[in-house]
Amino acid sequence: MMLLLVMMLCGVSLALNFCYDDERCDPYAWGDNYPSCHPLLESHHSPINLNRQLTKNGSLDSLNLEGFSLTPKGQWRLVNQGYSVVLEVGNGMQVSGGGLPGIYRTVQLHFHWGSVFTSGSEHTLDHLRFPMEMHIVNIKSTHPNLTSALEDPTGLAVLGVFIDVTSLHNENFHPISSALPFVAYKGQTKPIRPFPLINLLPQNNLAQYYRYHGSLTTPPCSQVVLWTVYEVPIDISWGQFDRFVSGIYATQEDENDQVLLHDNYRHIHPTYGRTVYASKDARLLTNSASCLTFFHLLNVLQLLPLLNL
Ligand SMILES: [Zn+2]
Repeated sequence: MMLLLVMMLCGVSLALNFCYDDERCDPYAWGDNYPSCHPLLESHHSPINLNRQLTKNGSLDSLNLEGFSLTPKGQWRLVNQGYSVVLEVGNGMQVSGGGLPGIYRTVQLHFHWGSVFTSGSEHTLDHLRFPMEMHIVNIKSTHPNLTSALEDPTGLAVLGVFIDVTSLHNENFHPISSALPFVAYKGQTKPIRPFPLINLLPQNNLAQYYRYHGSLTTPPCSQVVLWTVYEVPIDISWGQFDRFVSGIYATQEDENDQVLLHDNYRHIHPTYGRTVYASKDARLLTNSASCLTFFHLLNVLQLLPLLNL
């Protein structure tokens, strides 16, 4: 998830010898080069399946998303890092509240996606895997840099947002999807005019989320992340989804053998003794997840509009 963020922010030079599509370097082999990626017993790794074994926590209200509704000045940057597409955002946004132990400043967001609509998200919701997942990465403000935050068990707060695919174009997602062709190859960048980051969140369902302690989902898999995974996905169109699946490469433009980047998600890890909390207004405990799965299936088959719901 954030290896290159480490490099960018801290000038750390790390060998990028991990991948998703080759058994010599895929997520099951990451521990060979990054011992902290070994899912040892009782370790706190991510992602996890969010199931019915949740603990309702009435004190978990909506997070304070400071600056998310504003249009920041300056310029953002979209980057193809070979392992994901990352949007580096400038200063001015921070998250707090919702049970987080402090203020966390927002530094970047990035995406995980599948090769087909039935895979792609890192977390699963009652074993349902969405086509995509967005991670908004925030560093605890008491830390001068990410290196320092990685030494703190609660050094990072990541907001996870499931992304579903429908027949409707998502105009709020357009600033990203329209820029993807400019970052088709690893190393390419594209300036992005800032926009209110709240546009990318499930704005009507921000009080519904799950909270647990876990890890980075890429090497070095540091167990320093307070996860907030929103229950309700945002929707993008098939065309917008396809720009990720068919248009982003893990390789550089001048390489002979081009490799499409997709299925860049880590496998599910056990929760072991961890408590996974549901926010005060989360609904998974009361709603039927099987209905959720059913409607998801209708959605991806584009049958939902036919039911006039
Ligand atoms: Zn991630």
